Amino acid sequence: MQELHNKIKSILENGSASLFIAYQKSREGKITPTFITKPEQSQKAYFGDDCKQNLAVYIHKQEVKNFGKVGIFANIYTLKSLLQIYAENQIRDDYLKVVTINPNGAIVEFANFMEIENYVNENKPAPNPEDMERVEKLSNLSREERWDYWLNELSTCIKCYACRAACPMCYCTKCTVDCNQPQWISTPSHSLGNIEWHIMRAMHLAGRCVECNECARVCPMDIPLNLLTVKLNDTANIEFGQQAGLKGELDYALSTFKVDDKENFIR
Ligand code: SF4
Ligand code: SF4
Repeated sequence: MQELHNKIKSILENGSASLFIAYQKSREGKITPTFITKPEQSQKAYFGDDCKQNLAVYIHKQEVKNFGKVGIFANIYTLKSLLQIYAENQIRDDYLKVVTINPNGAIVEFANFMEIENYVNENKPAPNPEDMERVEKLSNLSREERWDYWLNELSTCIKCYACRAACPMCYCTKCTVDCNQPQWISTPSHSLGNIEWHIMRAMHLAGRCVECNECARVCPMDIPLNLLTVKLNDTANIEFGQQAGLKGELDYALSTFKVDDKENFIR
């Protein structure tokens, strides 16, 4: 841990960043984000297997952007998110100072996103076997059974939007669900409104989800909504050979087209 503290301290001291985002652990053992602005506060930083939150979500916040150059401690899913966000032109190389701990326990400081891309591809996490099994089971159901399954799961959604707030890939300044002129998605949490919200959310994340599972982890109703984006990712991979969070250059199926596409509607 001392090596991490020293790294954060030196980044803040040499002016590479004026804010460093990391994890901290409370006396009760609770893991929360911490925002370190002074070198002497670097002792607050903590890292362990219990650090699950995807800290990339904070880099979109204006309060964070106001600091100018920002440092961030990134687990592998945070690295994937940063790479995807970079590919989507939402951050620049010179804005972030990214640090991780590699599988051998050594601190790694990245000079640029090319280095992050190489690291992520060498260390990419295997898909969660439990999620894959559940997606497989759902895929084997009939369309009607699947519809009933999701209707039932999503019926408990209270539209708190914690899933949106926790997702680093949900960064629009104004979300469609917050628009009321026109009102595309009805606001009360009833069956139709819930389905509309979740279809919209899943489609906006299709092929962009880095599979960090934050959305499902923070859901107070225990809805396994990450399965929707995991399935869509799988489809994007099979159909277009695309996997989110592995490339620093955008090659996104839903924002490109080919005039010789096999589907006629494109012409
Ligand atoms: S976190 Fe859960 S309950 Fe809240 S909006 Fe998302 S799915 Fe619905
Ligand atoms: S798993 Fe959920 S929170 Fe993580 S990137 Fe995908 S949709 Fe967003």
